[in-house]
Amino acid sequence: MQTSIPAARAGRLDAFGTTIFAEMSALALATGSINLGQGFPDTDGPAWVLEAAVQAIRSGRGNQYPPGVGIPELRRAVAAHQQDWYGLVFDPEAEVLITVGATEAIAAAILGLTNPGDEVITFEPYYDSYAACIALAGADRRVVTLRPDGGRWTFDPDELRAAVTSRTRLILLNSPHNPTGTVLTESELAVVAELAREHDLIVVSDEVYEHLVFDGRHIPMATLPGMADRTVTISSAGKTFSVTGWKVGWACARPALLNRVRAVKQFLTYVGSGPFQHAIASALTAPAEYYQSVAAQLQVQRDTLTDGLIALGFTTLVPQATYFATVDVGPGAERWCRALPERAGVVAIPSRVFYDSDIDRYVRFAFCKQVDVLTDALRRLGKLPS
Ligand SMILES: *Cc1c(COP(=O)(O)O)cnc(C)c1O
Repeated sequence: MQTSIPAARAGRLDAFGTTIFAEMSALALATGSINLGQGFPDTDGPAWVLEAAVQAIRSGRGNQYPPGVGIPELRRAVAAHQQDWYGLVFDPEAEVLITVGATEAIAAAILGLTNPGDEVITFEPYYDSYAACIALAGADRRVVTLRPDGGRWTFDPDELRAAVTSRTRLILLNSPHNPTGTVLTESELAVVAELAREHDLIVVSDEVYEHLVFDGRHIPMATLPGMADRTVTISSAGKTFSVTGWKVGWACARPALLNRVRAVKQFLTYVGSGPFQHAIASALTAPAEYYQSVAAQLQVQRDTLTDGLIALGFTTLVPQATYFATVDVGPGAERWCRALPERAGVVAIPSRVFYDSDIDRYVRFAFCKQVDVLTDALRRLGKLPS
């Protein structure tokens, strides 16, 4: 008897293969390269944060399903954080949702707030999950390109205005921005806010790098006039506390929006990991000096990498925030990047994968690595024949 294998039918993600991060991390391993590809720190978060998770497990806090919206302690801690840092007021009962990292919050927001055929505007280069989530929702993506201008990456307000159509439903914003390291200014944010108010759009604002800012100041979109009612603010603990493997994130919004996000989230994962929620509830009460020390330490790493790259003759802008520096290697950057592990023993990410446009001259390096690792990578890059 002949058996057949059923043909796969779901085409929504046909254009998406294995993520570039898995591919390049495997290449790093196979070639013994220094991995400046994926953005995770090579040092753990502070001992007291790690200990809080151990204590939660030992004392039986969160070992069974926590509430679907997240434990009350963490929802209160997130609300207090938004109030203390930005003067934003969210009701921890109705306006804060705990998610499995910012990644789940982004997915649930896009799935919950768009219909098939709606358009979502985002800036390119973009975080890779944005394109996949928009596709999963059956929505259409429209991109506005960020370009180097005056020493940082920014957008042309006219291009953003021109991207809005009668089908636009949502603007997916990310500031501080991965991969360019740009922190949008108040006037840049005001352009986005004005369009959102004028065309009755929702803004989903991914702010996971809110505390990793070296130059400039992070301004949450929800603090702009009229925007608290039409913004879903998303962040997570992974970057701020150097625990990217814990996957504790959150979304804050008025109930009319947040209820839609929650409706999706409950069927994606139902709940996120309990003990880690307890640990992050205490971590968020850290004094301002803790947050400042994280940025100060990372700034040393940024300077090590960017000063080193510039000294070697690479063209790079000094990022204002985040884990990443983008290098302009000229046309053919993807090929250059794929050959780099063999040629130099260093892995980076070809930024082409973050673009819809045919832009292939940039490479993203992560600097959230120990200074001696960065120095070693620079030494290796210095041996490249020019
Ligand atoms: C790392 C990252 C995320 C994912 O955050 P998690 O909390 O790990 O899910 C989302 N957006 C951007 C821009 C990121 O760089």
